[in-house]
Amino acid sequence: MSETSIQALVAHLPANTDTVPVLNPANGKKIYDLPQMTVAQIEAAVDSARNAQIDWAKTPVSERADILLELSKLMVTDEAKFLDLLQLETAKSRAHAFEETIGAMNSAKYYAKISAKTLARKKTDSGIPFLTKTYVDQVPVGVVGVITPWNYPLALTMLDVLPALAAGNAVVQKADNQTALTVLFARHLAVEAGIPAELWTVVVGDGELVGNAITDNVDYVAFTGSTATGRKVAERAAKRLIGCSLELGGKNPMIVLDGANIKRAAEIALAGAFGSAGQLCVSIERVYVPNRIKDEFTKELAKRTDSLTVGRSSDFSMDIGSLTGYNQLQRVMGYVDDAVSTGATVVAGGTSVPETGPYFFRPTVVTNVNQNARMYRQEVFGPVIAVEGYEDLDEAIRLANDTELGLNASVVGPEREAMAVAKRLNAGGVNINEGFRATFASMETPMGGFKSSGQGRRNGPGGMLRYTEAKAIGISRGPIRLPSRAKDYNKMAPLMRLLIKWIK
Ligand code: NAD
Repeated sequence: MSETSIQALVAHLPANTDTVPVLNPANGKKIYDLPQMTVAQIEAAVDSARNAQIDWAKTPVSERADILLELSKLMVTDEAKFLDLLQLETAKSRAHAFEETIGAMNSAKYYAKISAKTLARKKTDSGIPFLTKTYVDQVPVGVVGVITPWNYPLALTMLDVLPALAAGNAVVQKADNQTALTVLFARHLAVEAGIPAELWTVVVGDGELVGNAITDNVDYVAFTGSTATGRKVAERAAKRLIGCSLELGGKNPMIVLDGANIKRAAEIALAGAFGSAGQLCVSIERVYVPNRIKDEFTKELAKRTDSLTVGRSSDFSMDIGSLTGYNQLQRVMGYVDDAVSTGATVVAGGTSVPETGPYFFRPTVVTNVNQNARMYRQEVFGPVIAVEGYEDLDEAIRLANDTELGLNASVVGPEREAMAVAKRLNAGGVNINEGFRATFASMETPMGGFKSSGQGRRNGPGGMLRYTEAKAIGISRGPIRLPSRAKDYNKMAPLMRLLIKWIK
C-alpha cells in the first residue's frame, strides 16, 4: 500500500494533531500517524449520522440490498488490496487474510439476499378474530454504534455494520487504532457502491474515551472485544436502556473421541488452534483426548506443529504470520512462562522468532497444564494449544464445560457420537470434525456466546433484526366494533366465550 493511498484513507478522519504511531507488526516499523478523535467529534459524527439516517430509512429495502451487492462486487475486484491491508496491519498470513476477506464478501451478499424477507411486514394472529387485524413492522433503531477489535477488522466490520445499514440504520463505527486502514478502505468501497457518505462514519481514538462517547450517544451498540470491556459496555448501555450485543472472548475446547482417527484429529486441532496465529475468538485452546491415546496424539500434533512455516510472505507460502504487536507477544509469552513455571511441558514451539520479526511466536503445544496456571481458564488469544487426557466421556465434557466462557467448542470422531456430545457442551457453537470454520463460515447460522462469552447473536436474520424495533400495528375492523360500554358485553360476552373456545 503506497503512502499516498494510506494518506487518502486517513483523509476521511479529522486532521487532529493528537496522533498515535501505527506500527507494522511484521517488522516493527511505523506505517503512519493516526489522528485521535475527541468526544465532541464523536458526538458530531453521531449527529450527522442521525440526519443521514432519515432519508436512508425511506430508501426502499431493495435499493439498499442492491448497494450491498455492488459492494460485494467491488470487494471481489479489490481482493488483493484487502489482503495487503490486512497483512500490513495485523501481520497475519496471506491464507488467514484470504479466509477473512472471502467471509466478508459473503456477508455483503447474504444480507443483500435476506433483507427484503427479514424486514417485510409480518401478519400475526390477532387476539380477536374478525374484529381486529395485527401486523409487525421492523423499524430501524436509528444510529447503531459498532465497536470492533483489531484481530478480524474486515470480517467483523462487515458482519456487524452491513446488517445495520441494510435494516435502514446509520452507523458510527469505532475501529481499533491498529487496524483503522482496513476499516476505512471497506467504508470507502461501500460509499463507492452507493452508501451515503454520512451514513457510515469510522471514528478512532482512545478505546475508553471513544467507546464511551459512542455508547452514550447511539441507539444500539454492537460490541466485539474482550469480556472485561464487554461488561463495561453492557453496564453503560443498560443505564441508557439501549440494546447491545456483545461478542466476547472464548476458551474453546476440543474433545477427541475414542473412535477418532488420531492423525486426522491432530490435523483438525492444528487448523483449529493456529488460525491468525491463534488471535481468533473461536480458536481452539485446549484439547481433551482419551488417556489411552494421549501420547500418540500429542506426538502427532507436535510433529505437525513443528512443521508449520512461520514468517512473512505476500503469497500462500507461510502457514503462520506474526502476533499483532508487542502487547500480544508479551501476553502470549507470559501465559506460556506461567504454565511452565507451574508444571506444564512444552512439546512444540514455545519461543519467539526474533530473526523473522519482532513479534513472531512459534505455534506451541503444551501438556499437563496445572489448574493453578493462568491459561487453565483464561483466554490466551495466541498460538498455544494445551493437550490433556481424560478417562471417560463424562470427565471430558465436565472439563470442557469447566469455564466461565462458552463461545466455541469442537468434537472430533464418529459423527453420531459427536452429535450426542455436542448436545452436552455449553457453547454458542459446536463444530464437529472441524475446529471453528464449519460454523464460522455460515452466514445463516447465529454466532455468539453462552455465559461470559457474550450476549445476543450476530449472523442469520437475527443479526439484522437486533438493529430494529418491532412495531406492532393493530386495526379494528367493522362492521362489529369492540365494546366501549359495560352493557355492550351483554351481546359481546357470549360471542367472545365462543371465540375463546374456538381459537386453537
Ligand atoms: P478490547 O476489549 O481490548 O477492545 C475491543 C475494542 O473495544 C477496541 O476497539 C477498543 O479500542 C475498544 N474499547 C476499549 N475500551 C473500551 C471501553 N471502555 N468502551 C468501549 N470500547 C472500548 O479487546 P481486544 O483485545 O482488542 O480484542 C481481543 C478480544 O476480543 C479477545 O478476548 C477476543 O476473544 C475477542 N473477540 C471476540 C470476537 C467474537 O466474535 N466473539 C471476535 C473477535 C475478538
